[in-house]
Amino acid sequence: MVILFMKIDILTIFPKMFKGPFSESLIGRAVKKAIVEVNIVDIRSFSKDKHKKVDDRPFGGGAGMVMKPEPLYDAIKSVGVKKKNSCCKDHNASPYVVYMSPQGRTLNNDVVKRFSVFEHLVVICGHYEGIDERIMKYVDEEVSVGDYVLTGGEIPAMVLIDSVSRMLPGVVGEPESVKNDSFFNGLLDYPHYTRPAVFKGYKVPRVLLSGDHKKINRWRIKESYKRTKRRRPDLLKNCKCKCIS
Ligand code: SAM
Repeated sequence: MVILFMKIDILTIFPKMFKGPFSESLIGRAVKKAIVEVNIVDIRSFSKDKHKKVDDRPFGGGAGMVMKPEPLYDAIKSVGVKKKNSCCKDHNASPYVVYMSPQGRTLNNDVVKRFSVFEHLVVICGHYEGIDERIMKYVDEEVSVGDYVLTGGEIPAMVLIDSVSRMLPGVVGEPESVKNDSFFNGLLDYPHYTRPAVFKGYKVPRVLLSGDHKKINRWRIKESYKRTKRRRPDLLKNCKCKCIS
């Protein structure tokens, strides 16, 4: 399935963080071309506290603060999310709700491809020790950007949204370039060169100047395979591509 338009609601306590990244580059273009609509929801604006507090101390004691459930719940409801079926998560739910979390499934190209067919995505950015666990009743999936801990979910949300958006038709100028990228077909990308043909004495591989596109293609596949074998042999275990050995 291919979708032509994706709506993304980002729930955050730092809405200004998204200004630059989502007005520049490919994402900015996707927004301008109305392929992606990004709506930033300020969780703090749903706080009923007179100081607009969104965190509180953890029950049971211990270090750090926890994001309170009420403002987050109201923010989630405001973008049309309903309580999820607790027995089985629905991978076609709309809107599909993601909580950026180091405890989630690690983001990879398969996850990105799966997300690229959702018409409406809601992304929750946590802070402090994380969000009150009861909010998980409204979450379809937790996604991590790697086995390390960041201060907040905003940068992970940007990573997710950038990688998903570039899969949508029209976002990247030449769709072929997405298909040739690392991971798309299970291999790392081949090496790239541009003018000049000689730089500081280093020459561009001669085949790339030959004009023989069949030969160039074969060289690229071979280089992709060689690189993958050297740098990421783990990828070759599941590789469905026709590899040249
Ligand atoms: N106490 C949490 C734990 O150990 O699992 C970490 C909380 S972290 C300091 C605050 C927030 O940053 C998280 O709620 C999450 O939204 C975000 N975050 C941190 N690391 C992340 C990662 N690797 N992937 C996705 N989100 C992350």
